[in-house]
Amino acid sequence: MFIRRRKLTEKIIYSIIQAGWLQVYSDAMRALVYTAPEKVEMQDQPRPQVLSGEVEVAVQMAGVCGSDISGFLGHSALRKPPLVLGHELVGWLPDGRRVVANPLISCGVCDPCLSGTQNLCVSWKLLGLGQTQGSFAEFVALPASQVHEIPETLASSQAVMAEPLANLVHLFRIVGPPTMFRLAIVGAGTMGALALLVGRLSGARDVLVADVNDERLATVRNLGATAAVNTGTPDGVVEAQRLAGRGFDVVIDASGSAPARQMALDLCRPGGVVALLGMGTQKSEVNFVASIRKEHRVVMSFAYTPVDFRRALDLLIAGQIDISNWTQKLSLEQGQDALERMSHRPGSVLKMLLEVGSAR
Ligand SMILES: [Zn+2]
Ligand SMILES: [Zn+2]
Repeated sequence: MFIRRRKLTEKIIYSIIQAGWLQVYSDAMRALVYTAPEKVEMQDQPRPQVLSGEVEVAVQMAGVCGSDISGFLGHSALRKPPLVLGHELVGWLPDGRRVVANPLISCGVCDPCLSGTQNLCVSWKLLGLGQTQGSFAEFVALPASQVHEIPETLASSQAVMAEPLANLVHLFRIVGPPTMFRLAIVGAGTMGALALLVGRLSGARDVLVADVNDERLATVRNLGATAAVNTGTPDGVVEAQRLAGRGFDVVIDASGSAPARQMALDLCRPGGVVALLGMGTQKSEVNFVASIRKEHRVVMSFAYTPVDFRRALDLLIAGQIDISNWTQKLSLEQGQDALERMSHRPGSVLKMLLEVGSAR
């Protein structure tokens, strides 16, 4: 009788678990671990420790950033194996609220932080960089102040763009472009495409985008570029210069390759602003004398502050920025495939999204 009753109890508990009414807590989680250049693999990892003041987020979806690709290829000095990459994420708090996380964690007490330039914090940390595990995993833990609840009207695949978008909100804020400015963008990847959209919102009346990949140029044409030119050929370079005329008021380098940086300077008008965002290569040569004669102002833009992040999220909530037609979803288990694709043949996909977990 006693044994029978125990069996019955077990049966009931098992049904409750199956119905999803009770979550079984596990110390382990699934994670996509970068183990060697061009290699990631699924592993069981310890679930992150949640320190005081922190929250645990169950990751639903994680975006693949250009910086994750640079890590995957073994080009990033701050991303060494073994490491869980990824910093763009949407997920759930333990109480079920859906949130987007600002993955750039600043100390809050150093001089740059106290001046409102948290992106320049002396001890900033980013998920998926250095010793901090990233969002290509079932769970992340981060300070409660880093998460923002999102409304039901905003799809997760849209909300996950808040982090990349924040970089451009920051760039335009520190450039402070004049009204009705002419804008050129070198590089038509995710950052170039978002620069185009934020540029339009900031009052750009004429936008040229240059890249060496025809599929990406077609995408930015669809997103509203006035002209999109393949500058991989000498003819293309001449065409870009013809369209520049006396030069653009603001030129953004969203690539970071050596030729892209020089091209950004070449397309800029005398007295104009060149904004350097791309980190493609550590060092490159540029013709300084030509730029000195034109009194180019050079602005270097890095990451974003909490206010830039909030503003980026508000733009997405308002439906003012949308590149969802150029995103693709794969599962976390398909991570190797996703990272290889974005490294070697991105095609028209601007943002690869990894689906990690479902609602709990
Ligand atoms: Zn990113
Ligand atoms: Zn700080």
